[in-house]
Amino acid sequence: MKHLLREIPPVHELQVSDKFQQVMKKFDQPAQNITKIIQNQINAIREELIQETLSKQLFNNYSLIDIIWQRVDGQLADFAQEKITNVINATGTVLHTNLGRARLSNQAIDHIVKVARGYSNLEYNLKEGKRGSRHDIIEGLLKEATGAEAAMVVNNNAAAVYLILRALAKEKEVIVSRGQLVEIGGSFRVSSIMEESGAHLVEVGTTNKTHLYDYEQAITEDTRMILKVHTSNFKTIGFTESVETDSLVSLANQHQQLIVYEDLGSGSLFDFKSVRIGDEPVVREIINSGVDLVSFSGDKLLGGPQAGIIAGKKEWIAQLKKHQLARVLRVDKMTLAGLETTLRTYLAGGAEEHLPTIRDIIKSREIMEDQANQFVHQLNHDLLDLQIEESFSQVGGGTMPDVEVPTVLVTIISKGITAQQLANRLRQHVPPIVVRIKDDKVVVDFRTIELREMEDLVAGFLDVVTKNNVTNETT
Ligand SMILES: *Cc1c(COP(=O)(O)O)cnc(C)c1O
Repeated sequence: MKHLLREIPPVHELQVSDKFQQVMKKFDQPAQNITKIIQNQINAIREELIQETLSKQLFNNYSLIDIIWQRVDGQLADFAQEKITNVINATGTVLHTNLGRARLSNQAIDHIVKVARGYSNLEYNLKEGKRGSRHDIIEGLLKEATGAEAAMVVNNNAAAVYLILRALAKEKEVIVSRGQLVEIGGSFRVSSIMEESGAHLVEVGTTNKTHLYDYEQAITEDTRMILKVHTSNFKTIGFTESVETDSLVSLANQHQQLIVYEDLGSGSLFDFKSVRIGDEPVVREIINSGVDLVSFSGDKLLGGPQAGIIAGKKEWIAQLKKHQLARVLRVDKMTLAGLETTLRTYLAGGAEEHLPTIRDIIKSREIMEDQANQFVHQLNHDLLDLQIEESFSQVGGGTMPDVEVPTVLVTIISKGITAQQLANRLRQHVPPIVVRIKDDKVVVDFRTIELREMEDLVAGFLDVVTKNNVTNETT
């Protein structure tokens, strides 16, 4: 193949070709970008010819020039593809951490866009005409929504935990039950974040049981805090015991300056118990039990943008706001806009109707059944075997691990390819479709599919099932 080296055209020859103009127009890129990519591809092909790694068969159908242009086209198409992009979540898992957790309400999206487009009063007090604080913008709404004396917002809940430990318990002892030393999503570990913060972890109790006296016996003059962590992504069952927040509060009240802080993880503002889903307490119930501080995510059950919300006693929140780290962990105007509108939706009683997270978790069987029927009807294809089934979906995002909500799904077998191959093709389709696999079948769970996505979903399946020249396919 080395003789082909002499056939590699110089870049300037390609630059003056019609094809160059066509490519420039197609991808709307300046000439110099295209020249650079041509040069890269020529270099790569030269190397492959020298190493003899370029497939000989390619030359049965294509000339060297064709191959160069195909690769240039491919690289430009890849570049043009949005890097962060919407995917169709067919897993049924509403709070899918890998798929961006909560979807925002239309109202929240509108508010974010409006604030992003113009200047804003982010740190400007319009009443007094002087510098304001971004902490003041939605504190009132947070207090209203949680019943707390004071509140603030940081980048995410991990940041909230870190700030609280660092600002209030550095070089002091923090008591945590061994049953609550959790790891969430592989990157948040209570013990590690504690170490990082400079607070000293004091473990009490056992994995399955921790009693009030365990906490009581661990209190020394160096104890600053009792931390209760919501065991978000697992459930201990059987012979278990943990101490209720109000008992910890009573215990702490017998000691000066002992803070009770609860990391709620998800922190729900909607009472899922009222629709018989799980036993997650609402934030207000925890605040009412008298804890000093709680923190929770903005983009889990709350259904808002990524954020960490801290609520509780004014004394502590004031200290947190003043800490240098609060500046490091602060949120931007878009987050505040999205969170503000999400909170307003709760306060106006519209969560079930307007917040996609809540709406999807309580989505009715009838709607999902309709979608499943529509899908099966429209996807009528010889190569496909489709079955409608009743099953369960998970809430996800490390929330309500023991709760399975009844759902309607369709199982799919595509003749001639494995479920894994079908899933791989769907994932690489534009728009990508992310599915579950169960018993060697691809599963589409309609809990997380919106009506407006149905058309793309069906088109995506038809597209990947009927295409036969798939490259780079693994089993
Ligand atoms: C999810 C979670 C966190 C981390 O929250 P992020 O908002 O993802 O940073 C911390 N603690 C608990 C208990 C959680 O469930």
